[in-house]
Amino acid sequence: MFTLIDLPYKSLAPVISDETLSFHHGKHLQTYVDNLNKLIAGTDYEGKSLEEIVVASAPVISSAAEGAVEKSPAIFNNAGQILNHNLYFTQFSPEPSLSVPTGSLLAQIQKQWSSLEAFQADFEAKGVGLFGSGWVWLAADKNGELSILQCPNADNPVAHGLKPLLTFDVWEHAYYLDHQNRRAAHLKALWPIVDWNVVGDRYTK
Ligand code: MN
Repeated sequence: MFTLIDLPYKSLAPVISDETLSFHHGKHLQTYVDNLNKLIAGTDYEGKSLEEIVVASAPVISSAAEGAVEKSPAIFNNAGQILNHNLYFTQFSPEPSLSVPTGSLLAQIQKQWSSLEAFQADFEAKGVGLFGSGWVWLAADKNGELSILQCPNADNPVAHGLKPLLTFDVWEHAYYLDHQNRRAAHLKALWPIVDWNVVGDRYTK
């Protein structure tokens, strides 16, 4: 049985309002948890970790001419959304212990984007440019090479063999109460609550 994660803070206001946080965590994420528990009951997925379920249920693109073949899309979507939101909520802090990346992560960002500011602009632009609902991710491959992924719906780096480091949720439920349609304003506002200590740990572990 999966359970709703506890938030490691009481509030992220004013960057994310308490109303948005309450709906996003208490309603949206709770629904994905409830759905997944129902979907996997009595199946081979029961007892597996979220990451294992995401990998096992990920859509498979057939090389045959008939096109894409999906397996367990409902399980993939709900497990992915729990994994994504768990990573999302735990990367934030009202008082980040590190407000900028340091060490090997900062060095890699500077190597690939030239500066933190250039990386942040690219990340925001890819979040704004993602059509419809989804997630923009900073991910690492097994050699530590970084990439920004635009993932639709519940998709995530784990489903592509990459390590998830940082994510901004671009589903409208993440920002509509606070910013209505202004996704770009929401994404730009998030940087001060990103705890780079958490993100850096994900990179080096
Ligand atoms: Mn969300």
